[in-house]
Amino acid sequence: MLIVQKYGGTSVGGLDRIENVANRVAKTKFKGNDVVVVVSAMSGETNKLIGYAEHFSKDPSKREMDILLSSGERVTASLLAIALQEMGVGAIAMTGRQAGIQTDSKHTYARIESINTDAMRTELNKGNIIIIAGFQGINKEGSVTTLGRGGSDLSAVAIAGALDADVCEIYSDVDGVYTTDPRIEPRAKKLDFISYEEMLELSSLGAKVLQNRSVELAKKMAVKIIAKSSFNENEGTTISEEHEEMEEVLVSGIAMDKNQARVSLREVSDRPGVAAEIFTKLADAQVNVDMIIQNASTDGTTNLGFTVPQSELGSAKGVIKAFDHDIGSVDFDENICKVSVVGVGMKSHSGVASAAFTALAKASINIEMISTSEIKVSMVVDEKFGELAVRVLHEAYQLDE
Ligand code: ADP
Ligand code: ASP
Ligand code: MG
Repeated sequence: MLIVQKYGGTSVGGLDRIENVANRVAKTKFKGNDVVVVVSAMSGETNKLIGYAEHFSKDPSKREMDILLSSGERVTASLLAIALQEMGVGAIAMTGRQAGIQTDSKHTYARIESINTDAMRTELNKGNIIIIAGFQGINKEGSVTTLGRGGSDLSAVAIAGALDADVCEIYSDVDGVYTTDPRIEPRAKKLDFISYEEMLELSSLGAKVLQNRSVELAKKMAVKIIAKSSFNENEGTTISEEHEEMEEVLVSGIAMDKNQARVSLREVSDRPGVAAEIFTKLADAQVNVDMIIQNASTDGTTNLGFTVPQSELGSAKGVIKAFDHDIGSVDFDENICKVSVVGVGMKSHSGVASAAFTALAKASINIEMISTSEIKVSMVVDEKFGELAVRVLHEAYQLDE
């Protein structure tokens, strides 16, 4: 088999842990597999590097940030290769460029455009284990790019897809995908399987066990992912195409996202085209608007509320300022939290949303905004009730049973 294994920051968070990974990788190789490994930087390292840059500038150049940030993954990739070589196992470390990962030029959030697998194939044919620095590639001009936070997951899936690997194993400090973050609800249960569709919703809605773009790509390229722990031998969670058994499950998980902010616009002129203008300008400024609510208008004005990622709130404020003449007053709130219930079974069952509202009401948690899709219900609540809301919903759908 050809196996791609990705080890996250905690798994390579120290020299002893890199040694542990080296043993696991070697074992996989000795079983007769071809192995390609993708590593993250040691946990905390990327944040530390960002902190260094912010010491000098509030808005450091993104091109230089990419050179800086890509270094964290190079440290762990080279150390892992050295550790394996010392064990007498053939291994070679590669940067994103050496592995043939070509991206666009959107520094710090680049998209993978193509992967030239020649160099990787050559090394595999020699019997070597390849250790690739995750989270990075190179653009057409030859500059290093990075793929956005959590991007080593994306590197691993893209490489597995390009090499047509049998499986992409993603190792972290949890032994799979749980019904909710086990750090918030210790009674959360590990799932044996989850569909790409549900996993994509969960990760987009805050479950960081897998980066959302990596799940999107896995679905597109039909890469089978298994989420596992690097600290034990437990069976993990398989993320693959939906199958019959899954449809019986009404709700598969609860996710929480605290990195959201709400923008409330009051007394907005109620004329055709206002919403179009505001949201077009927000899109132009690369602000990702999520939930939107507009009230019925009174006296020729209306109220409009929406959520944006906290990191994009600054840009949103800039855009809204230009609409002074059309808006009575504006209010920004970062102390909100989005809690979501996800499950493919919702497609064919009713009452899932009302059960969520009832459960939160019983716990006296006020719901400030709601949005739904075919397989999810999202609710905005006060940030201080986020964890409680997760536990209440987890219990309401009996996910601990
Ligand atoms: P890595 O650094 O290895 O990429 P992450 O920290 O990104 O690992 O992801 C693992 C973490 O994801 C876990 O420690 C856990 O707290 C969190 N998590 C959030 N939601 C879930 C979930 N539904 N199932 C499992 N883990 C989850
Ligand atoms: N080191 C990068 C980050 O912290 C990428 C990753 O770990 O996947 O975001
Ligand atoms: Mg991660």
